Amino acid sequence: MDCLFCKILNKEIPADIIYEDDQVIAFNDINPQAPTHALVVPRKHIDTVNDIADDDQALVGHMVQVAGKIAKEQGFDESGYRTVFNCNSHGGQTVFHIHLHLLGGKPLGWPPYFDENLKQPVA
Ligand code: AMP
Ligand code: ZN
Repeated sequence: MDCLFCKILNKEIPADIIYEDDQVIAFNDINPQAPTHALVVPRKHIDTVNDIADDDQALVGHMVQVAGKIAKEQGFDESGYRTVFNCNSHGGQTVFHIHLHLLGGKPLGWPPYFDENLKQPVA
């Protein structure tokens, strides 16, 4: 299967891996949107959040817990952070192997379409 994150998981493409266990890996995003921007990726290929099966519930819970552990390791668990799953076109998903974004290390804008420079929401 021609999947970027499967290739990273198989070590065919390099990544800056910051966490690894039998179920998931986490690596730094190549285009960081915060001082820490990591992606927690399951070893199992699942296309989108729509495709999470009943049997995947523990795995997805583990992904969220790993994001919390990385936040603690990096020292922003108390100041706070954001975890995001993007899904399909309107969600802005570009890699169709589910991944949990972990963003932290600075105050993050909300709602997510708020433009920090224009100080107004963007469409
Ligand atoms: P999404 O848009 O939610 O599908 O997120 C995909 C993320 O993968 C984006 O934030 C990209 O910057 C990131 N990305 C794409 N290619 C790589 C790569 N080779 N290594 C690390 N992150 C990547
Ligand atoms: Zn994959």
